[in-house]
Amino acid sequence: MTQAGKLYVVATPIGNLDDITQRALATLQQVDLIAAEDTRNAMRLLTHFSIKQKCMAYHDHNENSQSGKLIDLLSNGQNIALISDAGTPLINDPGYHLVKQCREKGIQVVPIPGACAVITALCAAGVATDQFYFGGFVPPKKQARQALFQKLTEQTFTSVFYESTHRIIASLKDLQISMGDEQNIVIGRELTKTFETFFAGTVTQTLDWIQADHNQQKGEFVLIIEGVEQSQEIDQKSMDLLIKLKAYMPLKAAAGIVSETYGVNKKALYQAGIELD
Ligand code: SAM
Repeated sequence: MTQAGKLYVVATPIGNLDDITQRALATLQQVDLIAAEDTRNAMRLLTHFSIKQKCMAYHDHNENSQSGKLIDLLSNGQNIALISDAGTPLINDPGYHLVKQCREKGIQVVPIPGACAVITALCAAGVATDQFYFGGFVPPKKQARQALFQKLTEQTFTSVFYESTHRIIASLKDLQISMGDEQNIVIGRELTKTFETFFAGTVTQTLDWIQADHNQQKGEFVLIIEGVEQSQEIDQKSMDLLIKLKAYMPLKAAAGIVSETYGVNKKALYQAGIELD
């Protein structure tokens, strides 16, 4: 009986080609076939590293049909590497069906770890990373986006999302509506590439920054939303003052005065003010 081959799930760079690992290069050299999200992109990567290999397309639209073919090849002893356009396969990229079927059929799946945008952003953002929620892409529709951000107003740990150049401003505006002006966020843009940028600030500061410079709206984005602080007890006298001031001035200013007067967290006051409406 033929011994089954192995499926190698190989991470590739998210921008800087030097981020490929030795193990990824050796695996891509040695396998019998590479299943790639986009064969032209794969060929560019392989050519850069002088690797000559056969590639087969494996993307969102043919995942089901191609999985069967790849399983047959693996069962017949072929070793296959799975790569996506950038970063780690299966992380908002194709591969789930194939890996699941391999596991069900007892075919060995070997991870070859490397770049991944969510981890790359988190490790340099300066936010709490002991616990985090990764939500994949922000929903494209406004209503779903606002509902999602609304849920995060009670999230105590960091949340991370992927976002595209087309929707980054719309998403930030919805974030501002649902979570308030004072929500702290970090944008990781074009990570590992020439124009890598991190911007940390409130959602209002971030919108001002990104809208002022068209160049900052281009490229690929990771959006990090800081969790709300756990102890946000607002005592009655602070709440009473907030209610009084709010009748005469914008909530942001009212929250600022109460915060200075009684030393209560400004963001918590702002959030409490939104909930009063
Ligand atoms: N599999 C990839 C990974 O491991 O991160 C993610 C693929 S997903 C289809 C593409 C999204 O990831 C982009 O729209 C962007 O939100 C994020 N992304 C990928 N590369 C990035 C980079 N260099 N800088 C910032 N975000 C990036």
